[in-house]
Amino acid sequence: MAAGGPSRALLTRMSRQQVAVERARRAFLTGRTRPLDYRIRQLKSLQRCLEERQADIVTALKKDLHKSEQGTALFEIYGVQGEILLVINKLSDWAAPRPVEKNLLGISDQVYIQPEPLGVVLIIGAWNYPWAVTIQPLVGAIAAGNAAVVKPSEVGVHTAKVMEDLLPLYLDKEMYPVVTGGVPETQELLKQRFDHIFYTGNSTVGKVVMEAASCHLTPVTLELGGKSPCYIDSSCDLTITCRRIAWGKFSNCGQTCIAPDYILCDPAIQDRVVEELRKAVKEFYTDDPRSCVDYGRIINQRHFKRIMAMMEDSTLAFGGENDESQCYIAPTVLKDVKPGAKVMQEEIFGPLLPIIPVSSVDEALRFINEREKPLVLYIFSPDPKLIKRMVAETSSGGVLANDCLVHFSVSTLPFGGVGNSGMGAYHGKYSFDQLSHMRGCLIKSLSMEGVNKMRYPPHTAKKMDW
Ligand code: NAD
Repeated sequence: MAAGGPSRALLTRMSRQQVAVERARRAFLTGRTRPLDYRIRQLKSLQRCLEERQADIVTALKKDLHKSEQGTALFEIYGVQGEILLVINKLSDWAAPRPVEKNLLGISDQVYIQPEPLGVVLIIGAWNYPWAVTIQPLVGAIAAGNAAVVKPSEVGVHTAKVMEDLLPLYLDKEMYPVVTGGVPETQELLKQRFDHIFYTGNSTVGKVVMEAASCHLTPVTLELGGKSPCYIDSSCDLTITCRRIAWGKFSNCGQTCIAPDYILCDPAIQDRVVEELRKAVKEFYTDDPRSCVDYGRIINQRHFKRIMAMMEDSTLAFGGENDESQCYIAPTVLKDVKPGAKVMQEEIFGPLLPIIPVSSVDEALRFINEREKPLVLYIFSPDPKLIKRMVAETSSGGVLANDCLVHFSVSTLPFGGVGNSGMGAYHGKYSFDQLSHMRGCLIKSLSMEGVNKMRYPPHTAKKMDW
């Protein structure tokens, strides 16, 4: 290999993925990401991309998921813009040395943590919020001074294309290449050496990513999914509760990692819950969600069939209308659902909302704790004691009481899973920390040698007697 990197002849023999990683590594090694000015310039340029090319992103998401213009702005753009602004304002604080407590012997030493870039990060995105879940980690990678290879999901065909076209126009294209493709291309990428892999997607592929990462001892962040439970306490205002749940569940046609997956409630309120959900669905999406601009579509026919098959052995409360040619499934509620029903065997990731009657909080807690740790636990109750109890007696990536989805937008909270719902967290400063190495630094002076006498052999009794 030539001193400045691989020769042209070698580059032509390398795969597209290898070339992108190799170029990103060479760019990183120039050291140009180290100055904060460079990172801020890149982020401002990304911000300009979002402003100038929002229409292209909206069009792509309309084609991929039937997202409305406002839905795209709300769920895919504003959050990323907010993150960029936050980084621009806070980066110098986050990147500065962080002094730590010293012990008596080191009182005149400098002791601090110096965040430093990791190197080349691989970002693998999912298709459900294909812009946000790919670009938001990229903001963190840029902020922390890393190079990043961006791999959008191939399932969101149009968004992947728009990302591939736009990012090189606004960002340092050697440092932040976009590599498109499906499973074989992602697997080829995963053979390369990275300094961190940030993966968003399902838990099965999460294991594939982690196994590949182990070959190079590469650390991973896994933003996965799972079945997030939603407990409704009988003393709730059910109109407000069900409106908030319907919004959380049926936004993006249920294809949201933090959508409430299923409801747990007392059998005595089940029928009222159904009625209030029905009213909310009508309020949001009219009597005919199919022709409503704000109601999405299932991403493709494979997922359409998967979701339709989940309904088979449960009782329909309302919804269920569908049209395979349009990948349309109406907002659907299933009642008296048994724990063994098909819809309860895996993350639904579609517009089906099963209700599982439970006769007490204890039964709800047992139900939750017998299953994998979810990405979110939703609790609806006016009783702070009950909320505290449920938080204390369960585990999940995050908790949100009396609302849905909105914790995602609080950048001071870490966002991530635990156990089967993932590892590592991001958003705001957590993204910066996650994608930095926290380097412990101890700087001594060469003076004050007297205090070291005791540690040098010979360890005589006289020396120890102080
Ligand atoms: P997907 O099919 O787009 O896959 C995600 C990425 O993995 C893609 O880039 C794809 O190319 C790659 N991939 C797929 N199969 C692979 C394989 N066998 N080997 C290597 N790479 C492979 O998305 P998905 O997994 O269907 O996404 C939905 C899941 O993501 C849900 O479980 C959802 O809950 C979860 N999700 C989590 C978050 C979060 O922030 N925690 C956000 C969005 C989605």
